[in-house]
Amino acid sequence: MSPSRPSSPPPATQALPDPAPLPPGGLPPGLLGGLDGPAASRGSRGRVKPPRHLADLTLPERRAAVTELGERPFRADQLSRQYFARLADDPGEMTDLPQSSRQELADALLPPLLTAERELACDGGTTRKTLWRAFDGAYVESVLMRYPGRVTMCVSSQVGCGMACPFCATGQAGLTRNLSTAEIVEQVVAGARTLARSQVPGGPGRVSNVVFMGMGEPLANYRSVVQAVRRLTEPAPAGLGLSARGLTVSTVGLVPAIGRLAAEGLPVTLAVSLHAPDDEARDELVPVNRRWKVAEVLDAAWRYADVTRRRVSIEYALIRDVNDQAWRADLLGELLAGRLAHVNLIPLNPTPGSRWTASRAGTQEEFAARLTGHGVPVTVRDTRGREIDGACGQLAASVGPGGDPPDPPAALRARAVVHRRHTGHSPGTRPGSLGR
Ligand code: SAH
Repeated sequence: MSPSRPSSPPPATQALPDPAPLPPGGLPPGLLGGLDGPAASRGSRGRVKPPRHLADLTLPERRAAVTELGERPFRADQLSRQYFARLADDPGEMTDLPQSSRQELADALLPPLLTAERELACDGGTTRKTLWRAFDGAYVESVLMRYPGRVTMCVSSQVGCGMACPFCATGQAGLTRNLSTAEIVEQVVAGARTLARSQVPGGPGRVSNVVFMGMGEPLANYRSVVQAVRRLTEPAPAGLGLSARGLTVSTVGLVPAIGRLAAEGLPVTLAVSLHAPDDEARDELVPVNRRWKVAEVLDAAWRYADVTRRRVSIEYALIRDVNDQAWRADLLGELLAGRLAHVNLIPLNPTPGSRWTASRAGTQEEFAARLTGHGVPVTVRDTRGREIDGACGQLAASVGPGGDPPDPPAALRARAVVHRRHTGHSPGTRPGSLGR
């Protein structure tokens, strides 16, 4: 059976990669009034960009920047070590820097980018979702998930999303803007700080995995995301020194960008949000499929696997009577058999206004069994994070106490969506209940 039509099909033209479209009419004027500091600058299209931060720059660029301030180049290395290795966020703690220049260096290269507006925890404090307020009043979320032996950070790459997948709440809100490299990196560094300071039960810890599965389409913010991957993986002082193998970039299937990513020489895992093995269903579930069909997306995925030797993760949200039929499981199995791939089945999380729902009991098991029958490895995501609505595509939440936005006008509110990682957090049930 083919999927039923959403009441207003999202425009496929919205789904183009890099550069991201401006919101209609540009940014709301209120945005310009609320800037925090002089460091924010205007981009080539008149848009106000986040202030420059050392995580936006390579180490040589940081050295040039401190030289311009009249400091010796090695001060950039010291500052970078403070940020990436010591995870310092208070210039007063940076005692290897002369007291006279600490503040000036920090003002120039470590401007505050994200302010934690709210934090929710569950699983005895080992799953923590943070709502961040950016310099312009935009909101994004990240989720830290601590497991025995590993910690995964799920990060946002955009404010909103332009991909318009009808079952995902972020997709309904549209795109506000791309995050800068440093805004992405800062989500991970903040998580690393919390762990290093033993603020997560389980003693001091480190981030081992980063998944670009929060708000946004990472490959539509290609440059910042790839730079963020570099910053996260370069050893200190250049970066945070995580293993690239612990990083996963998830995409709706922007074929040219997948090809570009394969050529970067970064052995990150690629996740493809497939959700259907046939174009009829996928055209509807993932509108960008009208531009790049299932066969093209999978070709790009296999090329990625060939080049990187990394197993591609195929994401598949099971939607009752829409994409969960036995024949679709078999078709998917045939497409993936013998490939360097595994399937992550996600029980659909309900979102406001969507009439789609999760599969009936037993359907998921049958779907998984059919894939296994084709020799395709399958995992099903667990339900971590349910209590804090840490669910895929679901946290289109109001952001303020009691569900109201804190300060900014409603137009500036991010419809924040965080979802869980393969084995990560899962279906939340109360959209709009970010608060309390
Ligand atoms: N834009 C990228 C990154 C987001 S990852 C991408 O689409 O891959 C978020 C994952 O959660 C994607 O696989 C997305 O399709 C899935 N998702 C979105 N809404 C969901 C929902 N309501 N239930 C289950 N999974 C959902």
